[in-house]
Amino acid sequence: MMDATAEKVIEISQLQKSFGDLEVLKSVDLTVRKGEVVCVIGPSGSGKSTLLRCVNLLESPSGGSVTVGGTDLTDPDIDIDAARTRIGMVFQSFNLFAHLSVRDNLTIAQRRVLKRSKAEANKVAEQTLEKVGLGEKIEAMPSQLSGGQQQRVAIARALAMNPEVMLFDEPTSALDPELVGEVLSVMRQLADEGMTMLVVTHEMAFARDVADQVVFMAEGYVVESGPPSQVVVAPTEERTKQFLRRVL
Ligand code: ADP
Ligand code: MG
Repeated sequence: MMDATAEKVIEISQLQKSFGDLEVLKSVDLTVRKGEVVCVIGPSGSGKSTLLRCVNLLESPSGGSVTVGGTDLTDPDIDIDAARTRIGMVFQSFNLFAHLSVRDNLTIAQRRVLKRSKAEANKVAEQTLEKVGLGEKIEAMPSQLSGGQQQRVAIARALAMNPEVMLFDEPTSALDPELVGEVLSVMRQLADEGMTMLVVTHEMAFARDVADQVVFMAEGYVVESGPPSQVVVAPTEERTKQFLRRVL
């Protein structure tokens, strides 16, 4: 829940990102405090994925700064692998290892990156799968699961690493409509448990009901941000109103 004095888990300041001549992020400021859910909304191509990718070090910023858990990711001397383990990421396209069982999907990074013992990694895998309602699927292969189940496994895989913050990039956009609810309900549960989350989504009901802050982005800028009662329900900027008319 929103607590204006809680520590800043993510602090993005004047973030810029260009690909050649294309300026995708022009100057983005955004703060996510511990226990907060921040939803980023905005038209396709506005730079939402690029923003998340800069937070997860999949892209390097062209300017400005990104600080996660007190570590400035733009400092060339940081331990990138250590910084990455603090951040869980869930993508639109699930990105499970297709040739590995659910169990191995959940244990491989725990073993290799966190150096957990096999027994410990298995215990955490079982616990996190239970949490997303898929305890009985531990021996399944990803291809045997529905899209909604695969995405819940992807969430469990990220949680098994005990991240300080979870990033979601349109986690339900690739799902058949009847499977969206089960993924959103796992995300709501995580939010209720106090997980710090930065979520790019087109699910306006989720943003309205779960987010502490909603950030509307367009053309590489934050156009409007604030509580959902303001940004989703009573936006002041014309561009936000236009966008909401199209998606609601
Ligand atoms: P969104 O997630 O809001 O739809 P993106 O961050 O994916 O937006 O993309 C914003 C813009 O950046 C788009 O015009 C896209 O084509 C461009 N872009 C994203 N990644 C790259 C890249 N690696 N190289 C070149 N252009 C890119
Ligand atoms: Mg995107």
